[in-house]
Amino acid sequence: MTWESVEKRKLSWSEIWGMESARLSFIIRVTYDVLPSPINLQLWLGLYTACPLCTVTATLKHILVGCRTSLTQGRYTWRHNQVLRCLAEKVECKRKSINAQPFTNQEERQFSSAFVREGDKPKTSPSTPDLGPLKVARDWQMQVDLDQRLIFPSEIITTTLRPDLVLWYNSPKLAYIIELTVPWEEAFEEAFERKKLRYANLAAEAENRGWKIKVHPVEVGCRVLVASTTAKLLREIGIRGQAQRQAIRELANTAERTSHWLWLKRADITWAAKAVS
Ligand SMILES: [Zn+2]
Repeated sequence: MTWESVEKRKLSWSEIWGMESARLSFIIRVTYDVLPSPINLQLWLGLYTACPLCTVTATLKHILVGCRTSLTQGRYTWRHNQVLRCLAEKVECKRKSINAQPFTNQEERQFSSAFVREGDKPKTSPSTPDLGPLKVARDWQMQVDLDQRLIFPSEIITTTLRPDLVLWYNSPKLAYIIELTVPWEEAFEEAFERKKLRYANLAAEAENRGWKIKVHPVEVGCRVLVASTTAKLLREIGIRGQAQRQAIRELANTAERTSHWLWLKRADITWAAKAVS
């Protein structure tokens, strides 16, 4: 993992003081892999205990992302969906605020210049509030694969693929496909490439039909770090500055709290989800 691929996470003193000691202890020990996982207990005390759920030798990584039984019981999906809900709330909030903004004459003039090449900066005057690239439209639509099973918007393409989130606008034809992974931090790049590949054909077919498709795989680590891909997405849809930092903090907190619950339930054969905030 390169440090360029992650967002720095700073804990302020007020955050630390306000944190329950069990939570702070978990953050520190999960970061440095010094939790009493079965493999660590073997190293420290010579005691061998396998993963109680699947009988494989259990590292911290196994417990948090690699246990087949946890996977089939839906533990990792539960964590993923908690983080996705947090991300979707941020995107939905932005979508609603953009849709509620009246079009200015200047924006209408800029309409045609909104489709800029990757890397180029859209033209804005200093007096225009920075609404981000979503300002090209006012009736953005969004679907998220959470409470209702996502059906990919048929006006874009017919497919059985179900990305986590689709944000789209019909004229001009522009869609963001957002796919979240909550991986072990060292696997950020692998997760990104795998998800990018999954939607490559869909994006190509939709582009043949005149759509501009932006595929955004984003990663929020299962321990404490958020990938820079997530920060880039937030920036790209206009969640910037303090709002971006707050979103990243909330995403990291959600991943950490849900991973903490998975850790606490590591020896419990029966799985019960928990509400986290
Ligand atoms: Zn296991």
